[in-house]
Amino acid sequence: MLEIADLSVSYGKHRAVDSVALTVAQSEIVVILGANGSGKTSLLKAIGGIQPAASGARIMLAGADLTKLRAHAIVEAGLALVPEGRGIFGELTVRENLMLGAYAKRARAGEAENLDRVLTLFPRLGERMAQAARTMSGGEQQMVAIGRALMSAPDILLLDEPSLGLSPLMCGELFGALTHIRKAGIGVLLVEQNAKRSLAIADRGYLLENGRIVGQGTAASLQNDPAVQRAYLGVAQSAV
Ligand code: ATP
Repeated sequence: MLEIADLSVSYGKHRAVDSVALTVAQSEIVVILGANGSGKTSLLKAIGGIQPAASGARIMLAGADLTKLRAHAIVEAGLALVPEGRGIFGELTVRENLMLGAYAKRARAGEAENLDRVLTLFPRLGERMAQAARTMSGGEQQMVAIGRALMSAPDILLLDEPSLGLSPLMCGELFGALTHIRKAGIGVLLVEQNAKRSLAIADRGYLLENGRIVGQGTAASLQNDPAVQRAYLGVAQSAV
């Protein structure tokens, strides 16, 4: 279980994330919905240790305190981030990108097994192992990025807008893969603008506005919430 409390991120005087509290259990998909600039990326970066959180924050994973750890130690503790824009190395092959994820000590012993799992999840990567990552399609590059994160054998996977720029077909494939990842016992924290698709696969969700959590609930309750429908699901307000 990932447990976050009192997490804030500031850029100078601007507070991009304000006292956020959330939890993600194993085998659970949790989505954070928020408009552009609401603080989604800053929140995920702070959890992943690549953006400092303000003092007072608490980031706990399975009872271990990750709050002051560096990014690589956070990966060792079982938390892997797939950043916005994927962060893969275009000149390296698909295999080399995946193997970068296997560098974590926690993952070395299970490397072959983890690779098998990634290639079962994304068979297309198996056919393209020797291809330079930059020549893959956007959706395939996202698979490489998720595959690399999975190679570190995480307990919790953090994903920053994985559907950005993908075709509806590719998006469906990707979100389908997330449900398989959940089945494998991994907890998934997903930041998305595509509310419709993400709520369709999520168990729970949080609404982020101006850096603050302003609502939360089961995916079903959020889907049926008129305010969520208006703000995130493109349902027009009925005339009064
Ligand atoms: P988007 O969906 O557009 O990616 P987001 O919800 O992920 O947005 P963030 O990228 O976390 O939001 O940004 C939150 C706020 O913090 C914005 O007002 C943004 O301009 C500001 N911000 C983000 N990164 C920095 C930075 N490095 N320096 C200063 N301000 C920043």
